[in-house]
Amino acid sequence: MKRPWFLLFDIDQTLLDFHEAERRSLIKTLAKYGEELSPEQTERYSVINDVHWKRLERGEITRGRVKTERFRVFLLTLGREDLDAAQVCHDYEYGLEDEAVEIPGALDAVREMAARGEDRLFLVSNGTLHVQQSRMALSGLDRLVEGSFISEEIGAEKPSKEFFDRAFAQIPDYDPARDRERTVIIGDSLTSDILGGKNAGIRTVWVCPGADGAQGRAAAMAQAPADRRPDAVIADLSQLPEALAGMKAEN
Ligand SMILES: [Mg+2]
Repeated sequence: MKRPWFLLFDIDQTLLDFHEAERRSLIKTLAKYGEELSPEQTERYSVINDVHWKRLERGEITRGRVKTERFRVFLLTLGREDLDAAQVCHDYEYGLEDEAVEIPGALDAVREMAARGEDRLFLVSNGTLHVQQSRMALSGLDRLVEGSFISEEIGAEKPSKEFFDRAFAQIPDYDPARDRERTVIIGDSLTSDILGGKNAGIRTVWVCPGADGAQGRAAAMAQAPADRRPDAVIADLSQLPEALAGMKAEN
């Protein structure tokens, strides 16, 4: 019998639009404290937030520190040092639970793959467990996959090898020695998904919006540093079956 392939999907900016979710939750949260945020201010938060998660990926800061530090810095830019960053962060995170905005077409692509039943599907996310669980349930993602691995629960972050080792240990009937070459991570981030896939010794598909056509894909590939160069680049998830077919054919 043909062994199945194991597809590990990143969640944020791959399947669900986290930027829109954070924008909505941020506006809701700060409104509670009497602040009506402008588009520039929500954009500024997004930049501050990204900087802090990148620091976590590089191991410079703990997850707990990321969460409150980003709000401490953001509240400073608003001149609202009077607010408790930990409390604002708490309100914001609970607000995120209600925001499951789909990347257009992404869930349909997963739905089709789930219906075909050829591959075994999983989710792999660096995120807060209660937030991701709620968003997976709201979007229906949790019913399309066999399981999900969220860093807060796993106790390790992408791109660490530990994250993947611990996830593989939880997949029934998964033998890393045998199945690694049939395992693929699909994600938008070179620093967490693609580098993580390389660290884990599995295949990698980079979701890079705009990398359309042979030329677009080649240009995207050229911008990826050598240690995190993906096996394939796609512009959106509708192109995934074709990218996988190429990998399966050479296997
Ligand atoms: Mg992502």
